Amino acid sequence: MRTLLKNARIVTMNRDFDEFSAGWILVEDQFIVALGDGPDPEMAVDETVDVNGDLVMPGMVNTHCHMPMTLFRGLGEDVDDRLFRYILPLEREAVTPDLVRIGARLAALEMILGGVTATADMYYFEQEVGRVLDRAGMRGVVGQTLADFNPPDHNSFDAGFGLVDDLRDEFRDNDRITASIAPHAPYSTGPEIMERVAGYVADNPDVCIQMHLAEMKSEMDWCSKHYKCRPVELADRTGILSPGAIMAHCLEVTPGEISTLAERGITVAHNARSNAKAGRGIAPVEAMRQSGIAVGLASDGAMSGNTLDIFAQMAPASMFAKLLGGSRKPMPAREIVKMATIEGARVLGLNNKTGSLEVGKYADLVRVSLAAPRMMPIYDIYAALVFTANATDVQDVMIDGEWVVRKGEALSLETARVLRDAAQIADTFSLKIRLIDAKGGNVPGV
Ligand SMILES: [Zn+2]
Repeated sequence: MRTLLKNARIVTMNRDFDEFSAGWILVEDQFIVALGDGPDPEMAVDETVDVNGDLVMPGMVNTHCHMPMTLFRGLGEDVDDRLFRYILPLEREAVTPDLVRIGARLAALEMILGGVTATADMYYFEQEVGRVLDRAGMRGVVGQTLADFNPPDHNSFDAGFGLVDDLRDEFRDNDRITASIAPHAPYSTGPEIMERVAGYVADNPDVCIQMHLAEMKSEMDWCSKHYKCRPVELADRTGILSPGAIMAHCLEVTPGEISTLAERGITVAHNARSNAKAGRGIAPVEAMRQSGIAVGLASDGAMSGNTLDIFAQMAPASMFAKLLGGSRKPMPAREIVKMATIEGARVLGLNNKTGSLEVGKYADLVRVSLAAPRMMPIYDIYAALVFTANATDVQDVMIDGEWVVRKGEALSLETARVLRDAAQIADTFSLKIRLIDAKGGNVPGV
């Protein structure tokens, strides 16, 4: 199968940031086999798509997500103790494989329609998330969460590690889905489990680590109270900071800790919006990137960041770095687009497969309409993407050489069914919330 996209403004995000103003891309089966500027190659193809001067860019990468939590979107917004009042009781009682599947489908639908072609995820019943991503045609690094707060799918860490084994076995030969082990955070696993995770990954090098790290003040207090140190030091002692491990947040990191993270070869998921909404602060993204750490953009779960749209992360990521630096200079638009694409792919260990438009890479690409009035004029395509484009500008999305979105409609998921199932779950949650509030909140076993 050969597809030719022509008449495209192309942002390649290759090493030289090559751009083509009247470009074309030739896709054969799963791969990009040629691309260039000017007259398109004269050869027989099965499908020709004239993109009419629209932008074609690499598929975007979401480096940290909790997909099923789309069902908690906007729940208890602005309530400071909502985690303990609503979310944890609801998770304990209501999170089942069915619910995970329904929430993950909603998340996958939102992501493909917004031009996100690969995501990292960590949650419970993660096999279900992997299956949803696979059927949606997406790439995913799917992390089974391990935690000590009585989560819905394991009542002991032994059981949790068993779920990781199942995940690893199911996706071992899957080219698009990678199994991952996701200890929730230092304070919810403890050093013994972090050590055990490090050992597990040494024995299973195809399973990568994801963890929340140095995210908030309560984590710092916990660490200093119990271990007289800071989270990065504690994690480092356990060996969990191994090459390729994805650490989410990394807000509370000193220059010395940044050097440690860089030396260990870990990567970072930057959740600008969710950090800001929780009032937690601004991660030192520039300093981390300058030390050689790959930092990708991330939505976090929809409970924390509301949207899984990577366009929505771009402007805040740039603005917060400018606020921190006190000038316009930090994090220019092109660097932000890099974090949303090829650098995000590096965070997930997928940069040889995706993240840029180059010969030999898988055809993961997005067509973005430039027709909206707010997209006119365009002096700097990267600034247009970061500060004015949004997810509704996405027209077509191809992953692995397959169209998953055409003309703004999902092809790999049934939109009406996904939305109907999610609405049903939301109705039951609304009832339970009223019950919790009527009883004064935080009622066990609601
Ligand atoms: Zn998270």
